[in-house]
Amino acid sequence: MNKLLFGTAGIPWSTKPRNTIKGIKQVRKLNLDSMELEFVHSVNLNPKTALEANKTAKENGIVLTTHGQYYVNLNSLDLAKFEASKKHILDACRIANLAGSWSICYHMAYYGKDEKSHVSERVIGAVKEIVKKLEDEGINLWLRPETGGRITQWGELNELIELSLACENVLPCIDFAHHYSRSLGKVNTYEDFKNILEELEKKLGRKCLDNMHIHTEGIEFNKSGEKKHVNLNECNLNYKDLIKIWKEFKIKGIVTCESPNLEEDALLLKKNYEGKI
Ligand SMILES: [Zn+2]
Repeated sequence: MNKLLFGTAGIPWSTKPRNTIKGIKQVRKLNLDSMELEFVHSVNLNPKTALEANKTAKENGIVLTTHGQYYVNLNSLDLAKFEASKKHILDACRIANLAGSWSICYHMAYYGKDEKSHVSERVIGAVKEIVKKLEDEGINLWLRPETGGRITQWGELNELIELSLACENVLPCIDFAHHYSRSLGKVNTYEDFKNILEELEKKLGRKCLDNMHIHTEGIEFNKSGEKKHVNLNECNLNYKDLIKIWKEFKIKGIVTCESPNLEEDALLLKKNYEGKI
């Protein structure tokens, strides 16, 4: 990536009719730069539509990313569910790849009753297997473990980094609202955000900061972390300092806005970043 791009998590609300192809064109009309394909409930594109999305995105200069299925758990003790989780990820990656998706992110696992280090070991083993299969099939996209918004979800910063170090073609998807919610509102200052980027640069190098996949949205939390996503002006996430840090570190890549109002907050972030508001 040669700059920081901004886009929506899914098809903008203002798209009519609301389908993937029209969504990509609408992102361009809105003066945004990227769109996340939402495979969260199912891989909802077939190979033909995926190729069409790929073509439309290229024609409109839009970068596509993908959010993988919610229903995976690479720490499931049920062997059938564990195997199915790996298959779900592979299935999604194949279609995302046909769509030309630059990156695909996942909430990889839940801790359950296990030690955190043990969960990481299992996740690393499974992701290594997945990455090897993708490589054998010639599929080339960033596979991204995302910050878990709840304290029961695997996906602290150090866990994302550990997995990225262990596997090729893996880098974190940093969801700043999730860092805020899983810390019960503590990670919310200029210094906190700076620490995250410094840690990423120290452990994963400049390559990571030049290829960031970020999620940012408003969020409500309770004692176990994320409750629900809300719009940025409905919560106290300190997004202005966050943007300041993005600029200071000259990060590149994609910021996907997961607020319920999608394009409105995506534009709010982009305009703030460009100093237009
Ligand atoms: Zn997210």
